[in-house]
Amino acid sequence: MKIQLLPSTFDENGSASPRQHLACFIIDDCVAIDAGSLAMAASTDQWSQIRDVVLTHAHLDHIAGLPLFIDDLFSTLDAPIFVHATREVIETLEQNIFNWAIYPRFCELENVNGAVMKYQPFEIGKEFFVKHLRLKPISVNHRVPTVGFIIADGETTFAISGDTAEVDGFWQSLNSEENLSALLIECALPNELVELADASHHLTPLGLQKELLKFNRKECSVYVINIKPMYRETVVRQIAELGIENLQILEIGQVYEW
Ligand SMILES: [Zn+2]
Repeated sequence: MKIQLLPSTFDENGSASPRQHLACFIIDDCVAIDAGSLAMAASTDQWSQIRDVVLTHAHLDHIAGLPLFIDDLFSTLDAPIFVHATREVIETLEQNIFNWAIYPRFCELENVNGAVMKYQPFEIGKEFFVKHLRLKPISVNHRVPTVGFIIADGETTFAISGDTAEVDGFWQSLNSEENLSALLIECALPNELVELADASHHLTPLGLQKELLKFNRKECSVYVINIKPMYRETVVRQIAELGIENLQILEIGQVYEW
């Protein structure tokens, strides 16, 4: 299974920078987990293949590229783009994004071939399939309804946390997985901003250290995601200082194969 965190920010030379403003993970060039930079950074090949977008939650940095992606593809689609999300997230998108005021209500629109966007609601704890992938959504602890996922393709299994603060059920689910190759987990803010992290339901490196004590799969590679760009250098240093084996930063733009 191939996974890539798409870039979302440019440096002064116009090249992709390692700072992550937006969250969008592409699996096997055909399924997007979150859509932060989907319209802005997907490759031509990914553009032509991605027709399924799976959302962890409705925060802007995770959905910003979704309306633009559908807009860009609108006239060329011969099948709808499926947006997989919980009913709460779908309701939030319909009320606040696809409401004609911010952007068109695409689920009501058609091109010459038919519908351009369809919602596929999923329920927490209930597995569902997207293309060749089996996904299990697990509730996590964020300011808004948010899920993480265990994602399997029949050979490889990995997990992604979504945005979260301290959590228990997520770890129980992961600990019961037989073959977990990798875990992608958030760590948004540096240790000195622990109050902000608590208020916004995010993790700091020290918070992440505590959480990883609940994780029994010590052989599993753990990759940090969702570092707020303004604090990236500090968070990366503080994570290195933890000295935890198997813990590393997920590099933006790099294709990982598990
Ligand atoms: Zn969030």
